[in-house]
Amino acid sequence: GREVRLVKRPVGEPAPADFSLVETEVPDPGPGQVLVRNDWFSVDPYMRGRMNDVKSYVPPFALDAPMDGAAVGTVVVSNAPEVPEGTVVRHGLGWREYAVLDAAGADAVDTSLAPAQAYLGALGMTGLTAYAGLTEVAPVREGDVVFVSGAAGAVGSVAARIAKHHGASRVIGSAGGPEKARRLTEEFGYDAAVDYKAGRLEEDLKEAAPKGIDVYFDNVGGDHLRAALAQLRVGGRVAMCGAISQYNATEPVPGPDNLVLAIGKRLTLRGFIVTDHMNLGREYAGLAARWLSEGTLPYEETVVEGIDNAVDAFIGMLKGANTGKMLIRLASD
Ligand code: NDP
Repeated sequence: GREVRLVKRPVGEPAPADFSLVETEVPDPGPGQVLVRNDWFSVDPYMRGRMNDVKSYVPPFALDAPMDGAAVGTVVVSNAPEVPEGTVVRHGLGWREYAVLDAAGADAVDTSLAPAQAYLGALGMTGLTAYAGLTEVAPVREGDVVFVSGAAGAVGSVAARIAKHHGASRVIGSAGGPEKARRLTEEFGYDAAVDYKAGRLEEDLKEAAPKGIDVYFDNVGGDHLRAALAQLRVGGRVAMCGAISQYNATEPVPGPDNLVLAIGKRLTLRGFIVTDHMNLGREYAGLAARWLSEGTLPYEETVVEGIDNAVDAFIGMLKGANTGKMLIRLASD
C-alpha cells in the first residue's frame, strides 16, 4: 500500500516537494487489530499547522513518517470479533491506502443513513464544528443576525442550516468568487452572500446586515474579523474557529486594528477546538440525520481521485479549490 509522508517542513504555501508518496509493506494485524482498506480520507486546514514544528493542540507531523488524519474504509482482515470483516469504519489513519489499527480506534459508521464519506464532513468533525460554534461557543438566539466566513467550505456550508435551526433571522455568508457566492444563497441556505474577492468586504457586509450582526462565526481571521468587529452589535458574540487567511503566513500576523471596539460593544470573542465539544456529538448526529433525510442539510463535497493527487488536493483546499468538504477517494479494486 502507498502512504503520503511529510519530508520537509513547508515555508509559506506547501509545495509538492515537501511530501513523498511511498510504497510500504502492510503489516499483518495483531490480536485485537483490524486491517482497513481506506476508501476515503480527509484533507483539512488544521493539517497545515501540524506541518510546522511548533507546540499546539495536536502534535506536529514527524518528518519521513506517514501523515495521519480522518479516514473511512472497509475492514478486510479482522482479529477483533467486535469489528468483523466488511464493517465500514471511521478512524484516524488517513493519508494511506491501508491502515492497521486497534479495534478500539475504529468506529463503525451507519451507511444506511448517509454515504460513508459523509462521516468525514457534514455528519462528522466539520459538521460538529459548526454546531459547537453556533450553540456552545457563540450561541445563536432567536432573531439573531449571523455572519459566517469561509461559508462555502466544509464547516461553512452547514452553518446556515444550524443557525436557522437555533432561531437566526438572517444568515450572511462570505466566500471567494461569484460562483461560490451564488451557491451560498441558492444551495446552502444563506440569506445573503458576500464575495470577498470583489474587494469590498466591509461595505458589502454592511449592506447585507444594515442593522449589524449578533454572532460572527470566524473561519478566516484577518480582514474578515476586522469587518465583523465593525458590524457587530452591542453584546455580540464571536466563535473563533479558524484563521485560514494566515495559515501560510511567514511573518507574525497583526490582530485586527479595530479590536478596541470589543470594549464599547461588550463583545465576547471565544476560541474553541471541536474536540472539547464531543458531548454534543449525539445531539448533532440526531439533528443532522433528520435534516439529511428531509433534504435540508446542505451536503456538498469536492472529490479528488487517488492518493497520488492528495497533496495537490490539500494545497488546493488551502486556496479555495473546494466547495464543501475536500475529500480523497481511493480506488477500490
Ligand atoms: P474549508 O472547506 O472551508 O476549506 C478552506 C477554505 O478556506 C477554502 O475553500 C477557501 O475558500 C478559504 N480560504 C482560503 N484562503 C482564504 C482567505 N485568505 N480568505 C478567505 N477565505 C480563504 O475548510 P474547513 O471547513 O475544514 O475549515 C474551515 C475553518 O475552520 C478553517 O479555518 C479551519 O482551520 C477551521 N476549523 C476549526 C476547527 C476547530 O475545532 N476550531 C475544526 C475544523 C475546522 P474561498 O474559495 O471562499 O476562499
